[in-house]
Amino acid sequence: MATATLSLVTDCLFCKIAAKEIPAEIVLETARALAFRDINPQAPTHVLVISKSHHANAAALAEADDGLADDLLKACHAVAVQEGVAETGYRVVFNTGPGAGQTVFHVHAHVLGGRSLQWPPG
Ligand code: AMP
Repeated sequence: MATATLSLVTDCLFCKIAAKEIPAEIVLETARALAFRDINPQAPTHVLVISKSHHANAAALAEADDGLADDLLKACHAVAVQEGVAETGYRVVFNTGPGAGQTVFHVHAHVLGGRSLQWPPG
């Protein structure tokens, strides 16, 4: 089992999922990332990829600058391959801030695929 030192925030939903205190349908786990199915899928493949450590959003993750953003992006691609959407195409979305639709303030990438995706998104 992959391990990492976790920096958890007690009232954070995704920290609780990372700590396995709240169940989720986990599809991939690495030392620093966890991927699980979105509870309200917007596409046949809709997986959330989170860092196990707490960062509020993609901007905070980028500022941490310790290679974690790279790990997360690699995990997104691994999920897409595993889900069989890498060849046909998939989308990776980081809603960053309330104005962009972010509702859970623990960085997560949405990996979406398995259907035709429109551009621009709403
Ligand atoms: P965002 O709006 O970008 O912050 O995305 C948050 C996502 O988390 C939404 O797509 C929700 O459907 C999803 N979500 C919320 N609670 C859970 C949960 N317990 N397990 C899996 N996905 C969740």
